[in-house]
Amino acid sequence: MRILLICLSVLLLASFARGGEKIEPQQAAPVVDDIPFENLDGFVPPEQIGDEIAKMVGKYDGGGKEDADAGECVRIQQERGVVQTGLTPVFIDGADCPEIDSEKWAIDYTGKREGRPALHKGVDIPQPRGTPILAVADGTVVGKFPNRHNRKGIEIMLRHTPAQAGLKYWTYSQYTHLREMSPLPIGAQVKMGQEIGKTANTGSMGKRVRRDALHFAILYSESPDWTNDGKVVMPRDGYFMDPVAFYRLEPPYDSQALAKMPREKKQTPTPYLTADGIPVPADTKRIWPFPACAKKKR
Ligand SMILES: [Zn+2]
Repeated sequence: MRILLICLSVLLLASFARGGEKIEPQQAAPVVDDIPFENLDGFVPPEQIGDEIAKMVGKYDGGGKEDADAGECVRIQQERGVVQTGLTPVFIDGADCPEIDSEKWAIDYTGKREGRPALHKGVDIPQPRGTPILAVADGTVVGKFPNRHNRKGIEIMLRHTPAQAGLKYWTYSQYTHLREMSPLPIGAQVKMGQEIGKTANTGSMGKRVRRDALHFAILYSESPDWTNDGKVVMPRDGYFMDPVAFYRLEPPYDSQALAKMPREKKQTPTPYLTADGIPVPADTKRIWPFPACAKKKR
């Protein structure tokens, strides 16, 4: 009797295995759910962050329903770091990495906004459509926004703890104009150099057509607290940082102090991944969002 039962089980198992083989080609990718914000380190409800930070991050200039005085938003942005510094990235060992084009940090965008006061709150790095964009440090996905009706287009935002980025602040890296929404869920832990999206030109531009380019920005705060209200990520008492300053090894990091530095100190040694995925320097905790192409001929 026992032997008969064993034989039956073996037959049953064999038939299950065959059934599994048949459906294998149509297996769907595993669905990974977002982690609820409340379960993420540092998350606080939006009402705890306040309107000033909402105006700083541009919650009101994205074409949403709400509106705010554009001049007031620009004043807050300037007080909180959106000021030209003159920093330029110099890729370590003379590497040839994709560069910021004419759309530099904190330039006046009033002309581009039909006379409405505005600043460029990031840098643009053109790359061919579909080029992978790399996480600039280890971090957590804290924002994913389709931004269907504003200039930013498809966006992902990462949060980096002081230990992850090797800085004394909590920092946030923002990547916009992406080709499609990243499959990474909210709460996903990403490693420095991991692909977090692909380059494109999403985001409304009126009649003009934007070139394919990553818009890259950095925010920072001494507080670990942040929120996501469904439209933007807002760090408590946050500031903008010149994205090039993010690669500095020592203070200052605030734009006002950076702007006052002597010219030679504004050449900023900038780490990156090689085309083979090797960090340069080897111990860096922060990299440029695109890898180097090849070494420049000298
Ligand atoms: Zn931009």
